[in-house]
Amino acid sequence: MQNYDNLIGGKWVAEAEAMPNINPSNTNDILGNYARGDAASVDAAVEAARAALPGWAGATPQLRHDVLEATGATIMARKDELGRLLSREEGKTLAEGIGEVTRAAQLFKFFAGEALRLGGEVLPSVRPGVEVMIEREPVGVVGLITPWNFPIAIPAWKAAPALAYGNCVILKPAELTPGCAWEIANILKESGCPDGVFNLVMGSGRTVGAQMVAHPGIDAISFTGSVATGRQIAVQCAENGKKVQLEMGGKNPMVVLDDADLDVAVGASLNGAFFSTGQRCTASSRLIVTAGIHDAFVEKLSAEVAKLKVGDALDPETQIGPVVDERQLQQNLSYVDLARSEGCEVIGGEAMDGQGFFQRPALFVHATNDMRSSREEIFGPCASVIRVADYDEALAVANDTEFGLSAGICTTSLKHASHFRRHIQAGMVMVNLPTAGVDYHVPFGGRKGSSYGAKEQGTYAREFYTQIKTSYIAP
Ligand code: NAD
Repeated sequence: MQNYDNLIGGKWVAEAEAMPNINPSNTNDILGNYARGDAASVDAAVEAARAALPGWAGATPQLRHDVLEATGATIMARKDELGRLLSREEGKTLAEGIGEVTRAAQLFKFFAGEALRLGGEVLPSVRPGVEVMIEREPVGVVGLITPWNFPIAIPAWKAAPALAYGNCVILKPAELTPGCAWEIANILKESGCPDGVFNLVMGSGRTVGAQMVAHPGIDAISFTGSVATGRQIAVQCAENGKKVQLEMGGKNPMVVLDDADLDVAVGASLNGAFFSTGQRCTASSRLIVTAGIHDAFVEKLSAEVAKLKVGDALDPETQIGPVVDERQLQQNLSYVDLARSEGCEVIGGEAMDGQGFFQRPALFVHATNDMRSSREEIFGPCASVIRVADYDEALAVANDTEFGLSAGICTTSLKHASHFRRHIQAGMVMVNLPTAGVDYHVPFGGRKGSSYGAKEQGTYAREFYTQIKTSYIAP
């Protein structure tokens, strides 16, 4: 069994403990043993990152560009192999895995360009002869804490801008998916990233994650994960004076109006609710359907759901891979029971036999928006179908949630689509498309309880990974 070490100060460092990385499609398949760091590993990584910071912050934009460009090129060249690794460790289908790896490569290439594009502004002062310069500088050493559901794209969309803008990085990936993060570390190192600029510390949230949040040598924390963990991190960062950015959960509405194209609405809902096994923060977990199309929509969608092939992520026929682990499977099943006890008609949702954590996708029909199964993020292949009278009620129900990440509407009415786009309380809006944020060059993030702080991706990533300096210059 191969051991995978942490990367600290440019050296691979073995830890006293390691954790097995298990394939959720086949629990007999162990990908390797991954180092389990501790508070001392974080201390060492911080020391290395701080030592490397002056060199990297002062490096030419060309050097930063070249490291990120080479990293993106290698990821792209290895996309089939890395996609396979991703499917084995997280359970996405191979097509989805390769898609996510491609996005990671594109992110590195986009931010390679950003390293060269970052500039400032010169303004005239209100005082004669004085000029004002506004510049962006790196924040310093940034800690990146990531979840398991996009194990290569999320580390990439944090690490690439952090490095492009001259920061040094400590990445702590989720315990369930350290393999993709290890590959990013290895590729960055091989692409000429100087020692200490990018550090990987694998380990648990309670030890490694908590130490990163508490450590005075880390200037900022970018976190993606659950609401409970995120809020705790925000409080600690406020107490420690750290800059913080949080991307958290969702209970994303997909509104289907009477005038929708039924095939488009069913396709967008099927993809939005169940692809990636529903383990997307942007999953369409509330399908809000007006009365005139409700029955036809449920009939067609349930027929499509019944046809979905659930199985081993590496089987080319599979459309829905496994749930990520036993704990998540049991949580999903408990929500299936809850929805039934709340009065829903449940279609599907049962656990399946096999050597992995397989579950049939579930529709909770006749749901209402006040049910717990309609309000709490399940993070599995489960979607509530909520019948409403008309567009106005659909919009009100869509906004009646603590979350505000992503939202969709299926309609052929430009009037309704435009009104929805303006009045929905969400950071990302889809018209006749699944509620998934796919493009790598535009902002990603939500509102309300889903997000806190600056947006990620695109040029908007500058807000978090740089800080402004204003200089007044007299001749
Ligand atoms: P999680 O909160 O359990 O863990 C996320 C990360 O935080 C992991 O690396 C974990 O080890 C670490 N962590 C846990 N406790 C910590 C602590 N006390 N201090 C510091 N770090 C700690 O979330 P998860 O189960 O890995 O991911 C699922 C969640 O992520 C879902 O709620 C999902 O909606 C959300 N998510 C959001 C987005 C988004 O962009 N909004 C994207 C993907 C996933």
